[in-house]
Amino acid sequence: MDMPNRRLDRMLYSPAGQGIAAALSGLAAGLAPVSCVACGAPDHSLCRVCTARIRRGTLHPYPAQEGAGALPAAEPGVPGADPTGADPTGADPDLFVPLPVLAAGVYSGGLARTVLAFKNRGHTDLAGFLAPVLADVLQAAVTDVRRREGDVPLVLVPVPGTGGSLRKRGYFPLALLLRRLRRRRLLPAGCAVVSLVSIPTGYGTAGALLRRWNHGGGPAGASGPQKGLGRNARRRNVRNTMTAGMPGGLAGVNCLVIDDVLTTGATIAETVRALRRAGARVLGAAVIAATPAPERNTTPTDPAVPGVRSTGAGNGIARRE
Ligand SMILES: [Zn+2]
Repeated sequence: MDMPNRRLDRMLYSPAGQGIAAALSGLAAGLAPVSCVACGAPDHSLCRVCTARIRRGTLHPYPAQEGAGALPAAEPGVPGADPTGADPTGADPDLFVPLPVLAAGVYSGGLARTVLAFKNRGHTDLAGFLAPVLADVLQAAVTDVRRREGDVPLVLVPVPGTGGSLRKRGYFPLALLLRRLRRRRLLPAGCAVVSLVSIPTGYGTAGALLRRWNHGGGPAGASGPQKGLGRNARRRNVRNTMTAGMPGGLAGVNCLVIDDVLTTGATIAETVRALRRAGARVLGAAVIAATPAPERNTTPTDPAVPGVRSTGAGNGIARRE
């Protein structure tokens, strides 16, 4: 299943590939000083050591949904407790089963610095490294879905970017990677990338809402930072900012949502809401990196931490913790 990826990896990491890559980054280095975005070593945007280390850390995609408290529910019938689908108790209707999300790696250390440099510091040259990472996690997510659903055609739907972020960066990082996958035929078989969800132009505050959400600001009228808000408040911040067209317009369409980084899951949740409102089924999501599960880096009593039980979450659904 990962033959094309292995081929690309071989090509990228072959002496000839490295030679070409080195020549190209040499050209760039001639224009501006370059250092490794992960460790700071001079001469390459991502040095050979970090390239190998970070790639190793992304070779085994893992289920990341339990760390993201704002994710929506899975489609009915999706087993939740066991990512392999083998758990017979997973279909218990009294339990909240979040949308299955596969992540290529943990959003920390070198991978986080690489993704950040690619997204926010104009390092589009890192697309050559990140594209095979995304290809692998997409393939794994599609394989997961087809194990549950059979060999269904799947539409891969990227979360929409905002006009503001395009103006700031000059490019849509996720779209750049997906174009590369399409060009190099690295998309999973039987899948097409279609930007079914958009943030309507003229939706004056959508970009501002997303930016506030991303940078820790609260919703209008709230005091205190976003991280002090509960799961439902975070979700309200991006709710109803996206559309996938008329209700029923996507009936019968099976989707997998793609994003670069999973934090609370609020952006994916809004994308899923728009798709489901248009009648599509959303069977899962795939991301390059996911923030570590909250249990690992916070106190368990913090009510603002997604995934940690909070009395204010009252939507009548018992949430698996
Ligand atoms: Zn390095």
